[in-house]
Amino acid sequence: MASVEIRDVRKAFGATQVIHGVSIDIVDGEFVILVGPSGCGKSTLLRMVAGLENVTGGEIRIGERVVNDVPPKERDIAMVFQNYALYPHMTVADNMAFSLKLRSAPKSEIEERVKKAADILGLGHLLERYPRQLSGGQRQRVAMGRAIVRNPQVFLFDEPLSNLDAKLRVQMRTEIKELHQRLKTTTVYVTHDQIEAMTMADKIVVMHDGIVEQMGAPLELYDRPANMFVAGFIGSPA
Ligand code: ADP
Ligand code: MG
Repeated sequence: MASVEIRDVRKAFGATQVIHGVSIDIVDGEFVILVGPSGCGKSTLLRMVAGLENVTGGEIRIGERVVNDVPPKERDIAMVFQNYALYPHMTVADNMAFSLKLRSAPKSEIEERVKKAADILGLGHLLERYPRQLSGGQRQRVAMGRAIVRNPQVFLFDEPLSNLDAKLRVQMRTEIKELHQRLKTTTVYVTHDQIEAMTMADKIVVMHDGIVEQMGAPLELYDRPANMFVAGFIGSPA
């Protein structure tokens, strides 16, 4: 676990600035949700925390360490995307083991970590299957398993449920929250779904056009929206 500190972070692609001085403090073990309309900069911000995009200005700290110039592989972070491509030619077990193999972890440790992640996610009986033999929800669990085995300090989720049907989405929300209660890993979770934000977050950060409109506990935002944008966004049906 680690805190994540985003301090006056800016991002431009060429001449176009898309993130305008965003600051967010994320406490050790907190589950923070970035929410806002499509195109407001959620993924870009998350990718900067992961190191997949460089920052144009400001500072990102993970724990005590400023990571602006630290490559993704050296940040102790695991990311789960919306299009969580599993390796089709590898079994579930090998999909989960792959990133540990890349990091030259000892074989016995890999086996132990894969087994533990599989137990947590209810994948124990599916370890020898291939992705094509799994349901959508099972694939999503394998994608999470790949993140869990690394035992990272920080989880980053980018709209991980948006390709699932409504019923499964509700079930996976609960599973992700239970996972967080169990592992207490600091989590930054991006969604454009305000219901997801209201039901899952310790703290919600409402973004709009590259700025933070408001952040706070779900009920705080609901009871005291800072402006019309937040009120409209939080109050509107999914
Ligand atoms: P969100 O995830 O909230 O939908 P994004 O972070 O993907 O938003 O995008 C924020 C803005 O940055 C959008 O206007 C998008 O078009 C722009 N953008 C994102 N990535 C790039 C890129 N690689 N090059 C140019 N513009 C980009
Ligand atoms: Mg996005």
